[in-house]
Amino acid sequence: MVDHALSPSQMMRTVRLRDAASGLDGVIAIHSTALGPGAGGCRFWRYPDIEAATQDACRLAKGMSYKNAMAELPLGGAKAVLRYPEGDFDRAALFRAFGKAVEALEGLYVTAEDVGTSVADMEQVSTMTRHVAGLHPAQDMAGGDPSPWTALGVFDSMRMAAQFALKADLDALTVAVQGVGNVGASLCRQLAEAGAKLVIADIDADRCRALADELGARMVDVTDIAAAEADIFAPCALGGALTQDSVAAMKARLVCGAANNQLATPDVADALLARAIVYAPDYVVNAGGIISVSAEYLGEDEASVRTRVARIGPRVARILEQAAREGRSPAVVADEMAESIIARAADKAA
Ligand code: NAD
Repeated sequence: MVDHALSPSQMMRTVRLRDAASGLDGVIAIHSTALGPGAGGCRFWRYPDIEAATQDACRLAKGMSYKNAMAELPLGGAKAVLRYPEGDFDRAALFRAFGKAVEALEGLYVTAEDVGTSVADMEQVSTMTRHVAGLHPAQDMAGGDPSPWTALGVFDSMRMAAQFALKADLDALTVAVQGVGNVGASLCRQLAEAGAKLVIADIDADRCRALADELGARMVDVTDIAAAEADIFAPCALGGALTQDSVAAMKARLVCGAANNQLATPDVADALLARAIVYAPDYVVNAGGIISVSAEYLGEDEASVRTRVARIGPRVARILEQAAREGRSPAVVADEMAESIIARAADKAA
């Protein structure tokens, strides 16, 4: 029913998922299990073909390896990408088939929500396997919506990065937030509480206006947010906010936000460096969510999530300090740190 042929390529393994009865069609990419089971969410999205889905899964799985390593989690990196079927389909059956595929990997891969999947989907997955997180939390245990934890890690990172890069506290600064969804809105509330001035934008104008009214923020068009008059730019929408053009027009001197894959291309890190705009690496900053998800899987309580999330800000500050000392991009410094953590674990396991 589900084809589990493993195709090893360098570090990456891909598992093709196919189940005609439910419409399941996708791939699990496992980048590294050196630090523990490969962990990363399940994306449910429209892809033109399985090659495009596989490419995305591999890119995302590698990102999860780096994120988990830098968050000091006992987890490797992986990701599932499922193609959204054409026509009618039984969603619950599709996620049960996916759960069966996860179970067949015997703990090599741990799944959770990502773009296009919900708690209800993961509850279906959990009927087939225990290698899933992002379920309704048991009392006092970790779990549930990871967004507030992500926002807390971003807020702490921003506060410490601002002290380092701008020599200022947040109450003296203006922050431009792109995207005020689950993470962005929570971040804005913390920033307002800390006395920061806010400029916000979202393609959902109603949501944006409501938050602007609540917090006394200035609302601007989505096309203007990256170049808004602000000290800090916080990408909290989709990936790719940092391009050669957006960096060239940016007034902010610090970038620190929740979005994954903020650098549209790796060379944008050089453009930021050339303009002396300090970049807090996205996957270090936004690790609060995976910390919450992993605690749920590992059976840890909320206090241990709080402890781990509290380490994010100081970690970001250390990366920025090292990058400044060496005159290099923080993105490159973070990648090297993650690679060396993974390589050390792989050597130990060999
Ligand atoms: P979300 O869907 O709740 O919010 C995203 C918001 O961005 C929405 O309000 C949407 O309307 C808006 N948006 C989309 N395109 C936009 C654009 N071009 N300009 C302005 N606004 C735009 O998602 P979220 O959970 O808040 O996640 C935000 C980002 O953080 C994503 O990149 C996600 O991958 C990343 N992230 C989230 C978590 C988490 O715990 N939720 C963890 C790690 C990383």
